[in-house]
Amino acid sequence: MSYQHILVAVDLTEECDPVIKRASVLAAGTGATLSLVHIVEPMAMAFGGDVPMDLSQLQQQQFDQAKARMLALRAKYPEIEEQYCHLTYGQPRQEIHKLAKEQACDMIIVGSHGRHGLGLLLGSTSNDVLHGAPCDVLAVKLDRVKTDKA
Ligand code: AMP
Repeated sequence: MSYQHILVAVDLTEECDPVIKRASVLAAGTGATLSLVHIVEPMAMAFGGDVPMDLSQLQQQQFDQAKARMLALRAKYPEIEEQYCHLTYGQPRQEIHKLAKEQACDMIIVGSHGRHGLGLLLGSTSNDVLHGAPCDVLAVKLDRVKTDKA
């Protein structure tokens, strides 16, 4: 049975290129639809809840930056149609699982750094997405060190 709808989770760093390329080859081989998703994490979440200042402007800037990067990705990978590009606020695992269910995706693709030691204890998004996923998850091994997260 081949995959019908592949959801690629991207962190919008340059590291998402090998992840999208792998997904694109898989989708071309099976005729699957390709969807892209990026989750913008609320800043208050990063600070652990209540923050005694207004972060709305910063949050908007973060969202606009992510939107511009998504547009750049679409220009680079025209096989991904606009209606299949998703940008949303929230917690990555939760939102990726939710979208995969809503869109009836049968595979989620993430990048994986294969962390060791402390990194393993702290976990990673790819690890997080794997647990409780509503469908198969493919982790594309990444070698390079992350630089610039949206
Ligand atoms: P990380 O463990 O956070 O370094 O990220 C590993 C992989 O998780 C990335 O290559 C993406 O596939 C996915 N990922 C990380 N952050 C996000 C995000 N904010 N939105 C969507 N996918 C993400």
